[in-house]
Amino acid sequence: MKLLYTAAIAAFLLVGCGTPKAPLSATQKETPKVVLTSVDLINVTDDKVSVVVNPPTITEKEIKFSLPAIVPGTYSRDDYGKYIEAFKALDYSGNELQFTKVDDNTWSILNADKLDKVTYLVNDTFDIESEHDIFSPTGTNIASNNYVLNMNGFIGYFNTLKNLPYEVLIKHPETLYAGTSLNELEIPKTKDSLTAANANYYKVDRYADLIDSPVMYTEHEPVSFTVGETEVLINVFSPNGTYSAEDFKPVISTMVEAQKAYLGDLKTTNKYAILVYLSTVGAEDAQGFGALEHNTSTVVVMPEQYPKQLLDKAMVDIVAHEFFHVVTPLSIHSEEIHFFDFNTPKMSQHLWMYEGVTEYFAQHFQVYEGLVTPEEFYDVIVSKIDNAKRYTGDFSFTEMSKNVLEEPYKDSYANVYEKGALIGMCIDLIMREQSNGEKGLIDLMKTLTKRFGSTSPFSDDTFIETVAALSYPEVGNFLRDHVQNNGAINYTEYFYLVGLEFAETKTNTALLASQDVQYIRGNEEGEIVFVNGELNSTLQDLGVLGGDVLVSYNKKEYNLSTARGLIIATNGLAEGDTVTLTVKRNGETVKLSGKYSTPTYLANKLGESPYATEEQKALRAAWLNK
Ligand SMILES: [Zn+2]
Repeated sequence: MKLLYTAAIAAFLLVGCGTPKAPLSATQKETPKVVLTSVDLINVTDDKVSVVVNPPTITEKEIKFSLPAIVPGTYSRDDYGKYIEAFKALDYSGNELQFTKVDDNTWSILNADKLDKVTYLVNDTFDIESEHDIFSPTGTNIASNNYVLNMNGFIGYFNTLKNLPYEVLIKHPETLYAGTSLNELEIPKTKDSLTAANANYYKVDRYADLIDSPVMYTEHEPVSFTVGETEVLINVFSPNGTYSAEDFKPVISTMVEAQKAYLGDLKTTNKYAILVYLSTVGAEDAQGFGALEHNTSTVVVMPEQYPKQLLDKAMVDIVAHEFFHVVTPLSIHSEEIHFFDFNTPKMSQHLWMYEGVTEYFAQHFQVYEGLVTPEEFYDVIVSKIDNAKRYTGDFSFTEMSKNVLEEPYKDSYANVYEKGALIGMCIDLIMREQSNGEKGLIDLMKTLTKRFGSTSPFSDDTFIETVAALSYPEVGNFLRDHVQNNGAINYTEYFYLVGLEFAETKTNTALLASQDVQYIRGNEEGEIVFVNGELNSTLQDLGVLGGDVLVSYNKKEYNLSTARGLIIATNGLAEGDTVTLTVKRNGETVKLSGKYSTPTYLANKLGESPYATEEQKALRAAWLNK
């Protein structure tokens, strides 16, 4: 490796320096200005991390410094400034400059032309999730054996300097290793005599790239391997040491290979980092499971108790979704996203594409590339149809998307993963029909990538017409009727194109709650109650009745606040295990016991019609690559 000793690094030596910056010489003036930042994970006191942000010389009399209110990909206002304290603006002599706090996220600094740097302390979000709604994969963790540095929680920006390069120096205990997709640079020679063992040093082109580049520290070195020309890095934090990065290598490797085959000539990233935080699910640990996409990485949060098989499956569903975001919004997006405002963002109308099409791809590629059977894929589609019915808002998808930060629209956000994915499926089927099976949604996305691409955003208002013009009039009609307007989708019509139909079928489920069916709910007393209506075969065999209040399972008591633990525990049951339930029924305590066998119920399942024509079968074969 070649030592990078640039003017920018020389400037870095000024971090924390108590003397005014010397006037710039003619040659120095040509060197680019940078914002120098440092994050100290060594001297952490009281669960708070100290951060320094040092801008180049400021000419304005007043400047605003902010942490983001919202970050791309989350679609919710989270106000990361709320977790900052002991904010100080210092001049070159170390004197404090006056500032006013404008709102939760913004400080306005007076006499800014004298400003050397700002310093502050950061509180983490994982251990106080009951107090806020920050989705864990966008949150932060500060613990001696793990740091989750989603930079939106740590490093802020000066409102006029967002487009300057940022340099980040992270000092860390020698026992911890960084996982990130950022390229590591040689440590500058500072007075702290930092080395590669106790510091990492990164540089990005602008503030938005910093927010796009999380870093997670764990006690284990990340594992990396290549798929095609993509280097994949996995970093896993498992608090009880249950899992290691190596455990997920096979499933991730197979998945990325299949995704690259599915994407064909669509360009993907050369480096992709998967940062996995496994939570104890305890009261002071992360509870928001899932992931957030970035251009070259993703942060995944999952329960550590999940058995390997379940975690592998979740990892494919979740990480595949994040990786497919490389298509949209990362390569195809509107001006609202391209010129993202971290504090007063305008939202785009096209979540149906950013999240819906992405989620559809994350499911469809699995059947298309042979990772799951068509039957498994049909089940996923049906569960999305069922889940979409829970969202009853009387507004269209584009309207919801545009207003997703506000009530009542925000409560419908999660429908992007249900109806949004189904919208993707319908467009795929329309395209297959119109092209005699030759073309599908992936081809439309390739066309859009060529037309736009990551540096050239589309205009939000005319996008539906653009899509119609670049595909088929029928796609335009569908988008106008069911996305711009709130027309109900008759899915049967689309399944008919490929010879699929619904029929009642005996189906496996979980003992208490699966993605598709729930047999328990909470009551006002905070107890767990079995629902009225048809229970699954195993609950029926045990003698459970609708309305029974669950008191304990295998001698451990549960209530509504611990129901998640109950579901995780029962999902781990194996054939032949003993199940003992204590329930309250009409004021009496009843003990129920029996052997576990995989529960079944009669589901309205999607399957291949025995009456399908050759034409329908051919279209289905093209759709599923079978
Ligand atoms: Zn997504």
